[in-house]
Amino acid sequence: MGMALRGALRVTLISVVASLLVTMAVLPAMGAQLTEIAFVMCVAAPLLIALPISYRSFRQKEQILAAHDELAKAHRELAVAHAALAETARRDSLTGLFNRGAFLQRLEATCRAAQTPPAVLLMIDADNFKAINDRFGHLVGDKALVSMADAMRSVLGDRATIGRIGGEEFAVILHGTSGSHAIDITERLRKRIASISLPAGGDRTVALSISIGAAKITPASSATTVMRIADEKLYDAKNGGRNRAAFQGIGIIEAVA
Ligand code: GH3
Ligand code: MG
Ligand code: MG
Repeated sequence: MGMALRGALRVTLISVVASLLVTMAVLPAMGAQLTEIAFVMCVAAPLLIALPISYRSFRQKEQILAAHDELAKAHRELAVAHAALAETARRDSLTGLFNRGAFLQRLEATCRAAQTPPAVLLMIDADNFKAINDRFGHLVGDKALVSMADAMRSVLGDRATIGRIGGEEFAVILHGTSGSHAIDITERLRKRIASISLPAGGDRTVALSISIGAAKITPASSATTVMRIADEKLYDAKNGGRNRAAFQGIGIIEAVA
């Protein structure tokens, strides 16, 4: 039996009992007789009036509740879709890393909140990438960008924020990292990428390398200044021969295989 019918029968039963009680109290008080017809009316009237009306009202309540449930479900689905869309908007579609806008937001937030031990910003540029595209084609170039991004994720893990901020340019925030530790991590990343041998059709492979400029993020840093310093260091690493890192206040870390 449905909820609406059960509710309607309950209301009807209450109406019948109430009618009987009122009739048995009022008729004798008025000096009238309690006849059979009076009892029949006490049962028939609620059955004919209360039952259909309350059934209809319970059905409407049921439908409103079902509509509320549907609406709540649609809201939940919309919230999930919205979160997925917002996440997609933050990501670079080729590599899945943060895109430029999302990365810069995080860099600014890191600079605002910088505490000891300070964080480090790495500006990273793939070496001679135009030549890779020219020799092997853009598709292989794209695969090279993806494998560099994968290497960054694998070496740097969750404690780094990684972004693709331009064509073959990446940037990384190494959170809570001190100077020598940052150098170790950076060297590990450089070596990992230099060890990639990307298949390029037939028995051809592509060798990859990156140059890195590193700047400290301290509580006094502004994002613009840190980026400028890391950019200058990246320039030093390129001029120093590529496939190497240059650190603010330390200089170039010579590439050792
Ligand atoms: P350098 O070592 O001085 O950085 O040399 P480079 O050749 O890497 O630098 P350059 O700025 O001359 O060339 C960058 C190249 O990166 C040119 C451009 O076609 C390529 N590039 C940028 N974005 C993409 C991309 O999404 N896919 C591919 N396949 N290539 C890209
Ligand atoms: Mg570049
Ligand atoms: Mg380059």
